[in-house]
Amino acid sequence: MTADVKILDGHMHLLTAETEREELAWLPPMSPAVAAAAGRRRERYEREQAIPSAAPGGEAADAAAARWLAELDRSGIAAAVFLALAPKPETLRRFVTAAPERLFAFTFVHPWEPGAAATLEADIRQGGFRGLKLYPSIQRFHVHDERAYPVYGRAEALGIPIVFHFGVTLDYRSDLRYSNPLDLHAVARDFPALNLIVAHAGAGFFRETLFLAYHCANVHVDTSGSGTWMRYLQRPLTLQEALRRLLDVFGPDRILFGTDSRHASEGYRHWLLQAQREALEALEVPEEARRRILGGTMARLLKIPW
Ligand SMILES: [Zn+2]
Repeated sequence: MTADVKILDGHMHLLTAETEREELAWLPPMSPAVAAAAGRRRERYEREQAIPSAAPGGEAADAAAARWLAELDRSGIAAAVFLALAPKPETLRRFVTAAPERLFAFTFVHPWEPGAAATLEADIRQGGFRGLKLYPSIQRFHVHDERAYPVYGRAEALGIPIVFHFGVTLDYRSDLRYSNPLDLHAVARDFPALNLIVAHAGAGFFRETLFLAYHCANVHVDTSGSGTWMRYLQRPLTLQEALRRLLDVFGPDRILFGTDSRHASEGYRHWLLQAQREALEALEVPEEARRRILGGTMARLLKIPW
């Protein structure tokens, strides 16, 4: 049984009114017509996912930390990684100081900007961040763009991992032209000591994500999200089938568990933990491999004892 396996959720977000302000500070503004279309899509998503309301609460960072720590306790989660969605993620920086041994934050930079590598280094060394999150489809850059190479080089020197969201995404402003994980191949090849994580196993670009595993040993995947993308494949997959393929190609040392929990109204997505645990049981994954997937792999990338 897996009940006693120590769990680290490798993919969560903090969403509050403050973090929303930080996001709006850099996201390109939407015209009224586009904003209305974005609103309709969000409503549809909330209806389909049965999320009461995605409106972020007005709580301060310390109150949000107390709430998430209680949620993690309720689900038996030992630690969690929260990924920033905006540069200068000051709210998230304050949030993790509530429990630095359990809450880990990844920062966010625009890698093509001059000085981005120095900003990253300051966020890691002074800000206490433990990794970097990049969102190519929202930031609208190809990750193989060599203007981003100084950031990759600095991350490699600092020994921190980078999480990328490729594939489909909720945000209406996204642009799928930047969403193909194949863009990551050159980066993985040119920075072999840099640990790269493809969130949601490529969120639809499953085949492309598997190709990366074949080519480069430094590419990892996380299992987070509700798996909506599995419906859009040429042949839809079940969670169990997807995990079987990931285990076959990546192996447990390159797979890390996550839920993408983020909305206060939804709370911790315990059902995703349950579903993944059950799928691993059904696949008869040995306990040592389950330990790595459910926490050990991310702990290794974070260089924390586990
Ligand atoms: Zn996410």
